[in-house]
Amino acid sequence: MELNLDYSRCAICPRNCNVDREKGQLGYCRVGAEPLVSCVVLHKGEEPVLTGSKGVCNVFFAHCNLGCTFCQNYQISCNSQFDINWLTSTNSIVNAVLATLKTGVKVLGFVSPSHQVKQMLEIIAAVQKAGFNPTIVYNSNGYDSVTTLKQLDGVIDVYLPDFKYFNNSIAKRYSDANGYREQALAALKEMYRQKGSPLFVDDEGIAESGLIVRHLVLPSHADDSVAVLNLIAQEVSSNIHVSLLSQFFPVEKNNLPTAINRVLHKEEYDRVVQEVEKLGFKGWVQDLNSPDFYLPDFERDNPFEY
Ligand code: SF4
Repeated sequence: MELNLDYSRCAICPRNCNVDREKGQLGYCRVGAEPLVSCVVLHKGEEPVLTGSKGVCNVFFAHCNLGCTFCQNYQISCNSQFDINWLTSTNSIVNAVLATLKTGVKVLGFVSPSHQVKQMLEIIAAVQKAGFNPTIVYNSNGYDSVTTLKQLDGVIDVYLPDFKYFNNSIAKRYSDANGYREQALAALKEMYRQKGSPLFVDDEGIAESGLIVRHLVLPSHADDSVAVLNLIAQEVSSNIHVSLLSQFFPVEKNNLPTAINRVLHKEEYDRVVQEVEKLGFKGWVQDLNSPDFYLPDFERDNPFEY
């Protein structure tokens, strides 16, 4: 696999920091040229078509190219943080991945890869060299560079991006992102160009190739969710798979603004669910009680086991 991603003037993501990561300069994400992974875990997560009965081997990259105030993964996404137990060599990450794949897990997911794409490609190459060919899932926040995504054509089997916001002022307020809507839409169009609408599954119903868009509904912002769904339907397709998430939980440590400092109300979530149905999207809708099940704790060996 030929790598052609330039970290010496980093524009790997839409932040375009233009720093030399090869020489130790750090941009917004504060990750250099080596991998920074908080953990490799077996995750029985949100979409059954990815997890099946055995789960997904998820590589959780540390730090992020967004700065979401409400991040449920704040223990690993905060760019000022470093934990000595994090994995910082490709070898150690690949060994952890292989140990999980050897148990029969068929799907390898990369969570928050947008700022560590080169590291991700090195991990994939090493896993394949070891004789494994799992379904590769790119699970991003949607703030991806089209130029970078073009280089992933033929490498990624399933794109699993978020589409977080329609309104850019909300994106700026909660995720410190400029032009989120335009960037995420351009990224989604590129993912759609590569994958189209069909979601191909194997004989056990596990995804092998396709595109699934996640949208997390925020408290007090059902209007924005409805606008996101209409944007995707109009600008991309209403034939794609959407995974609607209700799992927002106000982490106390995040010290959130009042508008989002609560769980979702049934009426606001129902309104968004109705829009998903009206627009004819395929996919999955989480139950409203999902915050009880999905809040991770990255101080545990497996953050998702309670
Ligand atoms: S990957 Fe990191 S350094 Fe590169 S442009 Fe994005 S935030 Fe900046």
